Amino acid sequence: MKYSILGATGLKVSVLCMGCLVLGPAQYNLSDEESRELIDYAVSKGVNFFDTSELYGVYRQLRCLKDKSGVVISSRSYAASRDEMKASLETARREMNRDKIEIFGLHEQESGLTLKGHMQALEYLAESREKGLIDAVSVSTHYVACVRSAALLPEVDVILAILNIDGIGIADGSRQDMEEALAFARYMGKGVYLMKALGGGHLFRKSYEALCYTRDFPYKDSVCVGVKNKAELDFACGVLCSDITPEKAENLEAVIRASPKRLVVEPWCQGCGKCEEKCGFGAISVTGGQARVDLSKCMLCGYCARVCPYFCLKVV
Ligand code: SF4
Ligand code: SF4
Repeated sequence: MKYSILGATGLKVSVLCMGCLVLGPAQYNLSDEESRELIDYAVSKGVNFFDTSELYGVYRQLRCLKDKSGVVISSRSYAASRDEMKASLETARREMNRDKIEIFGLHEQESGLTLKGHMQALEYLAESREKGLIDAVSVSTHYVACVRSAALLPEVDVILAILNIDGIGIADGSRQDMEEALAFARYMGKGVYLMKALGGGHLFRKSYEALCYTRDFPYKDSVCVGVKNKAELDFACGVLCSDITPEKAENLEAVIRASPKRLVVEPWCQGCGKCEEKCGFGAISVTGGQARVDLSKCMLCGYCARVCPYFCLKVV
């Protein structure tokens, strides 16, 4: 495993951050035992960086990390007020059975204005950092404008931003816009790690190329990848650490590509209908305020995911 220092936080993190959304009810809903086995395997490969959120419902599965040394857990919530953020941090500490959550922050921020609207929560987190309840304050975002604003805030230590080879899911700009914003954030001393390297699963047909792109992007410390089994973990580790040959990586990619896949709608779908308008196969429709997929018609082309404003269509 290779490691980086996460900006000015001093935290040493593996270049592969294990994304834990896949463990929970929104995706694979692995049992505690299955989760523990996968997490233990990740730790045995040198992974020490784990990404989660209050929203994902996986704190219980992450309890198994309690006694492992050098682990860095990053979580976040939608809390806007001081009291809400206090409750979120306490929930995380209690449910993961940890005195300290290394990184805690604001989930899915959009701009300088939304950051301003969450200033009470940010100030509470900055105080918690002083008290040692956390090591660093983070912001996660799909927005270029938010990266640029967060880069200027002294309360923020770490930025988790969307970036992938096709720019899927960047809400307000191109891949190049996000690359430039992240370079600026790094220049301002922020720790940066990337999410959606595989475009929410939609880049599965070129996952090797997609992971190589994030590996070679210079303005980041780590790349968060959701992995649901040991083969996917071996693949992500091998590519991000450059310790497998291109031939071996392509063989592993072929195995992963051939495994069964389906399109899922995350629970935070807003029922806006953009996906239904885009799909040329009649495979997705909105009923009762929620998009629903007809798996018998879905070609996994990914067009719907590119227009979803909330990034709630994933291939798993
Ligand atoms: S585009 Fe996204 S938010 Fe809108 S209905 Fe489809 S899945 Fe839901
Ligand atoms: S992945 Fe393609 S076929 Fe499937 S619902 Fe989306 S647009 Fe339609």
